[in-house]
Amino acid sequence: MKKSDQKTTTDAALFAATTTPDLGIPYGSCLLEDSPDPCMIVVIGASGDLTARKLMPALYNLYLKDALPDPFVIVGCSRSDFSDEGFREKMGVSLREKGAMDESKWESFASRLFYRSIQYDDPSSFSALARNLNELDMRYHTAGNRLFYLAIPPFLYETIARALGEAGLSAGTGENEPWSRVVVEKPFGSDLETAVALNRTLHSHFQEKQVFRIDHYLAKETVQNILMFRFANAVFEPVWNRTYIGSVSIISAETLGVEHRAGYYEQAGVLRDMFQNHMMQLLALIAMETPSRFEADQVRDEKVKVYRALRPFPVDNINDFIVLGQYGLGTIDNHEVPGYRDEPGVDPHSLTPTYAKMKVFIDNWRWQGVPFYLTSGKRLARKVTEISIQLKEVPHSMFRNVLGEHITANRLILGIYPDEKISLTFQTKNPGAKVCLRSVTMDFYYRQNYTGPVLDAYEKVLLDCMLGDHMLFWRQDGVELCWSFLTPILQSCESCANLPDMLRIYESGSWGPPSDADPTTEVAHS
Ligand code: NDP
Repeated sequence: MKKSDQKTTTDAALFAATTTPDLGIPYGSCLLEDSPDPCMIVVIGASGDLTARKLMPALYNLYLKDALPDPFVIVGCSRSDFSDEGFREKMGVSLREKGAMDESKWESFASRLFYRSIQYDDPSSFSALARNLNELDMRYHTAGNRLFYLAIPPFLYETIARALGEAGLSAGTGENEPWSRVVVEKPFGSDLETAVALNRTLHSHFQEKQVFRIDHYLAKETVQNILMFRFANAVFEPVWNRTYIGSVSIISAETLGVEHRAGYYEQAGVLRDMFQNHMMQLLALIAMETPSRFEADQVRDEKVKVYRALRPFPVDNINDFIVLGQYGLGTIDNHEVPGYRDEPGVDPHSLTPTYAKMKVFIDNWRWQGVPFYLTSGKRLARKVTEISIQLKEVPHSMFRNVLGEHITANRLILGIYPDEKISLTFQTKNPGAKVCLRSVTMDFYYRQNYTGPVLDAYEKVLLDCMLGDHMLFWRQDGVELCWSFLTPILQSCESCANLPDMLRIYESGSWGPPSDADPTTEVAHS
């Protein structure tokens, strides 16, 4: 069935979709808004890990949900030598290994998969690719629309952007002509200077509206829900400021170690891996002002204002604002795990931080004086991502004679992983004649009363790239402002003089460096 036909059945199918997730998803339902234009998805670096583990499963799932364009073609490119058949086989194997294979539709999906071997630094290779793509376009009627996904190591982004541009593959803004878009994976540079250079090269060949800088974190349902929760309810916004909120804690903890990514992680460390992107996005969603409309540029404008208002780190007394750690030997899920320096591919004397906690302030009227604690680390006690909004105590306790001066303050938790929930903790009277208070919690579980299909984060971002919706993607100014904020911290932390003193080894399976090493104070983990 063509997507245009499906649109006519929207209302009836919307309800069907909640009970029949295997039938494909109607456009116009909560899951999908529009049908993407016919297009070709060209994955550069297709022999790699990201393609096998994330991109191909996401594309196949979109296909199963009838959410890919009609028609579509996927072309994998990298230096490795595969035939079309060999590439289909490799993708099939990884989907099966991942347990993500529905055999019934694989053959028809695989018939739209192709592979072209390219040399990244050879212009003639990209000219040949351009001819190949034109042929596939003609054969499969993909209308000349192309999405180039850079699934290659970051040092190749500029080389590929240039090669695409010089081969004429970057032309096409989509206005009265086919579109060409480029998707760039994080990290977007490794500091301000490299980020500016990368943006300059991208912009030599693509306009900003053709560029999609992915942060798949933003596509998680519960992360998107932060905006809905804040701006579609009248009850919380009046207290969402320094008058009522004492502190905000954003934590993203993993139990995993560096796994097979030591080559990348040794260079990046936790500040580049987590803070420049995911943590900054969560911070902006919590702190931003209300956009006047739910449109990509209006939302991104408000986020950028938050980044502009970040108080620069006082590099002279940086230790009062940041704690850095590196995991040592310890126990996770009852298994002994090695310390970071004993992981394969890691320098035995490595000073790469795998944990950071920082206290940041936002210099504007809403947030003046409210500390935001951002914490992220590997090999911590529990895999959890949540935002905890600690409200202030009541200004005056009328119960002071019986209960003392302090009454436990309210806390709002926005759980992103593993609990996708919103919890509000408040005080109530304990039953009985005596005046006793107790803390109780009201929980909303995000998937409560919902059994229908959902889009995983990579499915959502891929779909949005095809639709040309920038809402969940980084804009150039946001990237550069975050690097402006973080680069002095990185320079200070990474200077040989400071780092050995700053870096504290913590036991794997703990919550990071011991608290007596922590000059910041924070909201406790829930
Ligand atoms: P890989 O290291 O698997 O590299 C992808 C492909 O690039 C390889 O298959 C190889 O293809 C080519 N390649 C690798 N190293 C080199 C090199 N030194 N010189 C030339 N070509 C090289 O990367 P991933 O798939 O893991 O990641 C791709 C991008 O996505 C990266 O930017 C990464 O930061 C980002 N990312 C990855 C995530 C993941 O889970 N893997 C998660 C989030 C972001 P060939 O030799 O065939 O040309």
